[in-house]
Amino acid sequence: MHETILTVIFAAALLASLGLKFWLATRQMRHVAAHRDAVPAAFAATIALVAHQKAADYTLAKGRFGLLNMAFAAAVLLGWTLLGGLDTLNGVVREAVQPRFGDMAYQLALLAAFALVGGVLELPFELYSTFRIEQRFGFNRMTWKLYVGDLLKNLLVGALIGLPIAALILWLMGAAGNLWWLWAWGAWMGFNLLILVLYPTVIAPLFNKFEPLADESLKARVQALMARCGFTAKGLFVMDGSRRSAHANAYFTGFGAAKRVVFFDTLLAKLSPGEVEAVLAHELGHFKHKHVIKRIGAMFALSLAGFALLGWLSSQSWFFLGLGVRPAIGAPNDALALLLFLLVTPVFAFFVSPLFAQLSRRHEFQADAYACQQASGGDLATALLKLHEDNAATLTPDPVYVRFYYSHPPAGERLAAMHHQPA
Ligand SMILES: [Zn+2]
Repeated sequence: MHETILTVIFAAALLASLGLKFWLATRQMRHVAAHRDAVPAAFAATIALVAHQKAADYTLAKGRFGLLNMAFAAAVLLGWTLLGGLDTLNGVVREAVQPRFGDMAYQLALLAAFALVGGVLELPFELYSTFRIEQRFGFNRMTWKLYVGDLLKNLLVGALIGLPIAALILWLMGAAGNLWWLWAWGAWMGFNLLILVLYPTVIAPLFNKFEPLADESLKARVQALMARCGFTAKGLFVMDGSRRSAHANAYFTGFGAAKRVVFFDTLLAKLSPGEVEAVLAHELGHFKHKHVIKRIGAMFALSLAGFALLGWLSSQSWFFLGLGVRPAIGAPNDALALLLFLLVTPVFAFFVSPLFAQLSRRHEFQADAYACQQASGGDLATALLKLHEDNAATLTPDPVYVRFYYSHPPAGERLAAMHHQPA
């Protein structure tokens, strides 16, 4: 009885989210196509028609591919759950591993097998996106050799990091009693903090080269900005982002006194020193307004709710049966519950994602306002336009699509808000 209700709710949510995603994506594509012929008045003096049309074509190409990707992802999800894919995989792995190597090995093997099959299914889409779409618009810098190298490194790092934390959580699920989810949540949070600390110094250098910022005048400028804003940084680095992509970025990582500023070499190549300073001031604004801490706090709270929910669901047989999986009698079902939960929750979470996007856009406005106080608003505006143009981001998105998906407000809104800042 319960399982039928869950099946119906899940199928309905999957269908509704797919319908909503298609509707939003086609709205966006129609809107961008309809505005392809003319640069919006507010940008007419700064953006050339060719650049505007390139952005439209790039958005449309990604949009069309996105539709295909969406349909495929929904089919795969349905295949894993109601059509019995996960049940079959589970049966095969359990029979092969559990009798000889025991419960933990079986559960880890199930997680690994699922990740591998999922990765293989997604691979054609990733390849097409990188070597066809990004390539066609001149953004891809990735060679096949680099791509395969990255893939292997990702697999290795994923296994080295993922398997121990998965083993710890599975062990807690089996051994820590009714409140296992609270312990597991604690372990997961500790793990996330550890990754946050290790990422900039240990993991990121496996994929990119980081060199101290050599440009002395830019360095002096950036250090003056940071002193003015009350920040100290452990170092200013330039990352060879150009190895993989022409898209530009800058970020600020780490805790307390161990913060480091990382500029993509592609960013430094495109922006003037004043613009780099304004972009960094925007990033500092996120720290000043405590957006980073708030985001981490929200992640803590959400994952606590997630673990509590999983704690309850994993002990209900209808949770498995309703989603197309038969739990085993003579083996732990914790890895199975974990996988089902990770597969199914995003379908429901999609409906509340506009709330988070809205919050994120508000944070961006606040960071822009801070940057306008601490650096030149004019520089921030031109930097924003250059980055938009270089990334071929559309200046004419569909307003409803923006509400749903955009973590950053559209350039037009950001520029308008900056003009209202006191100089
Ligand atoms: Zn920002």
